[in-house]
Amino acid sequence: MADVLYRGSCMCGSVRFEIEAPLGPFGFCHCNTCRKASGTAFTANSSVPRDKVRFLNGEGTIRRYESSPGTFRCFCSNCGSPVYKESPSKPGVIRIRLGLLDTPVGDKPRAHTFWSEKADWYELKGDMPAYDTWITEPKAK
Ligand SMILES: [Zn+2]
Ligand SMILES: [Zn+2]
Repeated sequence: MADVLYRGSCMCGSVRFEIEAPLGPFGFCHCNTCRKASGTAFTANSSVPRDKVRFLNGEGTIRRYESSPGTFRCFCSNCGSPVYKESPSKPGVIRIRLGLLDTPVGDKPRAHTFWSEKADWYELKGDMPAYDTWITEPKAK
């Protein structure tokens, strides 16, 4: 059996999960849907193989909302915590919401994405590069 590297839970504790794989690199996404899904300036999400995420309980409490065509935001229907994002076009991977982890992440964010859609009240770039859209696109000014 693989080692559990991370543990996470939603705000009410209905949803509990363990992750048995290293988290992929992550950044802060300022896109419109991430802002609305989180209720604040940006989200921090990391890709993990779906078969390395084990739900201990509450998987049936999770509801899905199709925030853009082919992208489903999955949240606890009891407390509203966002849990992960998934796309049928990438069935092997889910994007875990790092704020749900109860164990240390042990890594730092790499970049800001969708800086062009950021909230006007957020200005702090720090020393991270900022991209207008995806990290593969030209940098923002
Ligand atoms: Zn919950
Ligand atoms: Zn986003």
